[in-house]
This record gives sequence, structure tokens and C-alpha cells, in this order.
Amino acid sequence: MSNATLLAIDQGTTSSRAILFSPGGEILALKQKELALQTPHKGWVEQSPVDIWEDTLWACRGVIESAHDRVANIAAIGITNQRETTIIWDRKTGEPVYNAIVWQDRRTADLCAKLKDAGFEQIITDKTGLLLDPYFSATKIAWILDNVPGVRDRAQNGDLAFGTIDCFLLWKLTGGKTHTTDVTNASRTLLYNTREQKWDEALLELFNIPAALLPEVKDNAATFGTTQANLLGASYTIGGMAGDQHAALIGQACFEPGMVKSTYGTGCFALMNIGTEFKTSQNRLLTTPAYRLNGEITYALEGSIFTAGAAIQWLRDNLGLFEDAAQSEALARSVPDNNQVYFVPAFTGLGAPYWEPEAKAMITGLSRESTGAHITRAALEAQAYQSCDLMQAMHADSDAAHAMNVIRADGGLVANEFMCQFLADMLDRTVEIPAVTETTAWGAAALAGLQSGVFTELDDITQNWTLARRYTPQMQSSERQALFKAWKTAIHSTLQGLI
Ligand code: ADP
Repeated sequence: MSNATLLAIDQGTTSSRAILFSPGGEILALKQKELALQTPHKGWVEQSPVDIWEDTLWACRGVIESAHDRVANIAAIGITNQRETTIIWDRKTGEPVYNAIVWQDRRTADLCAKLKDAGFEQIITDKTGLLLDPYFSATKIAWILDNVPGVRDRAQNGDLAFGTIDCFLLWKLTGGKTHTTDVTNASRTLLYNTREQKWDEALLELFNIPAALLPEVKDNAATFGTTQANLLGASYTIGGMAGDQHAALIGQACFEPGMVKSTYGTGCFALMNIGTEFKTSQNRLLTTPAYRLNGEITYALEGSIFTAGAAIQWLRDNLGLFEDAAQSEALARSVPDNNQVYFVPAFTGLGAPYWEPEAKAMITGLSRESTGAHITRAALEAQAYQSCDLMQAMHADSDAAHAMNVIRADGGLVANEFMCQFLADMLDRTVEIPAVTETTAWGAAALAGLQSGVFTELDDITQNWTLARRYTPQMQSSERQALFKAWKTAIHSTLQGLI
């Protein structure tokens, strides 16, 4: 299998991509198409399922065409995807009954608030590891059933199928033969009992969703199906599937309890491997399957920060402080410190561990000497402070035995070495950046590699993980404590602003 290649489909919120990897993680070919968002009303976010499918097919075909000499060796395909985004389609015609309702969509906030007031959140958290929030799929499904004429009857009759993006793409790739998802994607619906690993009847009843809509749930490395031959020129096995953050955890080879991956893109998502036992967070983190292989599940704690790189984009596009995100580094370094300026980038509320959707962004500590450089530095420093908030919550939730000494970071922001060093300093932990920067797509490819025999065990993926850069903490603890205290004051002001 030394010439084997692995094809990853990475269907994200902003783009649909296909990447052909060598077993060592080298990118042999890549195709990508931007994906539009539609916002028909305030708080509504939708995407076209037709575009999602056609763009994905286009990207796969493009990769296969450009790497034609390696294509014969594709051992299997892996799929990774934006999570929670909801599609319902007709099992006979394949026609979606409504647009994809994207994870960012808040139209079901009232329904969630109603269920929360009625006291249902605790039972939902106990079963799913999640919080009662519009972010997850269940209330999106309920909305489609209740608002698109005729859909509830068709669903009850078994004529319709629900799926997150992975499941929809699999159904399309197999020519409508396979209606299957994987455990990580299923776990983001609020309908899947993550402890018992099955669709939960009581939750289906609570959200009033017919079981006939639901897909089968498989391990992350499994024989999901084969592509219809006319689509990609040959039949390929789809052998791997995982939601994007879970795939990144796998791509970062975080297979030991206590290992953490943190992805700094538009937002930031950190997952910590906590081993084989489900554990409910006491600090408003989510409990989620990290992966399930050969029927054995490993769990993770997950924390999300809504705004990470988006704050840098805001400084670039709205304040015009620089033209290119990469210039933020030199600007931040042009001043010796933040001069008491703190930037809480709560543009879309605060995520974990605060979960305060109404919070607004704030820049505190401005004086006559403050410059754009201080604000830029504060925005980069904020990535580390927010990560400290998350890691403290993770640490409090996890066993002392799972001490996390190293954080494996990825995403667009890790190109910024100032940010990486400051992160290591504030976390007081080593920060490692991998050589394979496409960790999400690589995670999906690695799962396909496990299913197809390119890899025989997780250790093979660990062996393949190579370090590009390492940052070790350099800061005195007194300085770290003073900075973090001032950050907490800024957070406090942000939360006070809500009263
Ligand atoms: P996503 O996958 O969420 O679209 P990416 O992982 O591609 O995001 O990261 C893009 C983000 O990283 C953007 O918000 C951009 O502002 C930020 N970014 C990219 N390079 C740098 C840099 N050198 N310094 C600071 N921020 C950067």
C-alpha cells in the first residue's frame, strides 16, 4: 500500500474542499470552492444543499483530474464536515424539502428558552453532554417539520430523511443507497444518547421528531458505502467520517487522555481527550465523543470560543489597521506591551465557559497613548486569555491524572508566532504546531486509512504526526497572573454591561 492515497472531503461553513493525501500526510492535490451563506431574516443562517453537493462533487472531480496518475491508488475516502447543520430530503427524489439550516442559525432560540424554563436542560445534558441551545440540530429539525407545509406527515410516513452534512453527502455519493452517519456527528443533534450510544426515544418525543427520519450510526472508521461509479469515474469506498473538530483531534493524533488540540480559525475550538468514560462538565463545557473505533468509544471535553481570527479580520476590515492579517504580528511587536489595553472580542456573544449570547465586544483601558498597535496586540493576546479560560475549565473538569502539559494548535492564526508564544506563556504549557496544517482534512483521511488498511492502528497515525514548531513558556508567573487578572476585570466589565 506504499503508493496508496487517501481522499478527504472537507465540507466547511465557508468552503467545500477535496484534498488528496499521501499516507504520510503530504498534500498531493487540493480543490476548493467558497460557499455562500444566506441570511433571509435576522438570526437566520441558511445554505443551499444543492451548492453543498455540487461544489463537493466539483472539488472531488477536480482533485481526481489533477492527480490522475495517483487516482488508481485511492484506498478510501474520508468525510469531515461543519457540524450540526441540518438537511431534510425526500428519500425517493433526493430533493431537499428546505435549505440547510446552518449551525449559526438562532431562529429556534425561543423554543430552546421555553424548554429550558420548563426544566429540561439538565436531563438533556445528562444524556447528550450538550447544552440546550439553537446551535444543535434538534430544534432546527423541529422547525422544518413545523414550518414547511406537509413535511411532518411525509416524515411520519417514512418518506423523508434527516442528515447532517456528512450524512447528506454520503447519501448523494452512494446514489441514495446509504443513509448513515457517524457517532461524532450524531452526537451533535441533541437526539443521540452519548452515554448509551443510541438515538434516545425520550429526546425524540421531547422535540417531537419521528424516528423514521434518522440515519444509522457507525464508528468513525467503517465501511460507509461506495461511490456510484459514474460520479467520480470509479467506485471508491467511503471509509472514514467525523465532524470537523473531532477530525482535527484525530489529525493531531491526540489519542491519550489529557491531550488537547485547539484550532484557531474564525472561531476557536478546543477538545481534550478524556478517555473512555463519559463525564458531565461542571464548568459549562460540552462532553462529546472524540471518536469510536472497533465499537470502543473515547470521549472529549469541548470548549468553543466564538470569535478568534474574526477579531483580526475586524481590525483589518472595519478599523483598517492593516491590509493583511499577517501584518498584525509586526504591529503587535512594535509596542513593548499592551499598555493596559484589553480586547474582549464578544462580537457574537461569549462562548465557553461563559455561554453569554447577549454579550457585546469591548476594548478596555484606552488612554491618550493607546494606538492601533496596542489594540492589535490586545486582540492577539485575547486569543491566549480566552484559551486560559477554557483550559482552566477543562482542568477543573478532568482528572488530575490527565494533566495536559502540551497543547497542539492549528488553524489560520497559528501562522502568527507572537500569538503562539504568548499562548504558551499564558497557558504555562508547551504549544506544538504540526507540519500537516490541514489537520481536519487529514483526520478524515486518516480514518479512511484505518478502515482501508493503510494504517493498522492509531499508533501509525501518531507516528506520522510531525512537529513543525514548538513554543515553551518564557514568562514569569507574577507577570502571567497580573495579565490574567486584568483580563478577568475586562470580562467582568463585559458581563456587567449586560445588566
Ligand atoms: P476558518 O477555517 O475558520 O475559515 P482559518 O483556519 O483559515 O479559518 O483561519 C483564518 C483566520 O485566521 C482569519 O480570521 C484570519 O484573520 C486569521 N489569520 C490568518 N493568518 C493570520 C496571521 N498571520 N495573524 C493573525 N491572524 C491570522
